[in-house]
Amino acid sequence: MKKYIILMTLGAMCFSPLFSQSKPKVVASASMLYDIAYNIAGDEVELEMIVPIGGDPHIHEPTPSNARMVNRADLVLINGLTFEGWMNELIENSGTKGETVTVTEGIDVLRSLTYQNSADPHAWMIASNGIIYAENTRKALVNLLPSKAAVFDQNFEKYKSKLLELDQYIKIQIATIPKEKRILITSHDAFQYYGRAYGLKLDAIMGISTDAEAQTADVMRVNEAIRKNNVPAIFIESTINPKMMKQIAKDNDVRIGGELFADSLGDEESPADTYINMLKSNTDTIVKALTGNKDQEELPEKSNLPLYLGIAVFLLLAMFFGIRLMNK
Ligand SMILES: [Zn+2]
Repeated sequence: MKKYIILMTLGAMCFSPLFSQSKPKVVASASMLYDIAYNIAGDEVELEMIVPIGGDPHIHEPTPSNARMVNRADLVLINGLTFEGWMNELIENSGTKGETVTVTEGIDVLRSLTYQNSADPHAWMIASNGIIYAENTRKALVNLLPSKAAVFDQNFEKYKSKLLELDQYIKIQIATIPKEKRILITSHDAFQYYGRAYGLKLDAIMGISTDAEAQTADVMRVNEAIRKNNVPAIFIESTINPKMMKQIAKDNDVRIGGELFADSLGDEESPADTYINMLKSNTDTIVKALTGNKDQEELPEKSNLPLYLGIAVFLLLAMFFGIRLMNK
């Protein structure tokens, strides 16, 4: 009997979460932070994100499972700068003993153009800031798991060189857009860091957050910017309903230049499945849409030509056989 109890206890210990999940738990608020952390931590920690891919972190409503996730966490990574304001309450209510680290620490913070007192949270939109996010994450991971410091340092160095390369790529690509066409019009004001660093003028129908709807005055301002600058294309965003931008495009007879990723990565099938790919995909989409020759872009619409030819041939044949039948 004694033997049996010992075996039972051993079995329970093996299957207990305490023993099967011995890796430290790290929780990131948003997908960009998650991916940066994954590039540095690899499989050395158990990593989770709160706002799912495609979700909008500005307006996320925490769920009970989010609270459990944070409660179990040994480290919580947040963007701060009012990006995910609900995180503070979630962390407090979860009763977690884990440390919270703000990965934007040390960033040169921009202010909102429309609300001078608000910090602009979208600092990750440029690769040079991505390096600061990665460095803060590296430090936090080393604190959490000092025995793996060498792994984290090495991963960071590799990732940093990729981000430096990306920064160069973006600069070179944006420079190929004719200067007078470097105007980026998006759903919400998420591209200030990007525009300043890489040299694009900006406008958007919504402010730095998505919690307030666009007003008529905002739409009028954007309409005027499109007309005044002869803008060839405007852009929708993966986390925002594209309805209003599509209407603006229609009203002004401009194209939708494509989908940009600002507040979330794209899913695995998308060209923005990682943080690096997200910035690269945004850049490629912007460059293609703003440099594209308008006449060339409209060619696909003329692809009805084969259909018309087909109908013409059919009518001719019908006439031919009709005449032959009548002659008989
Ligand atoms: Zn945003």
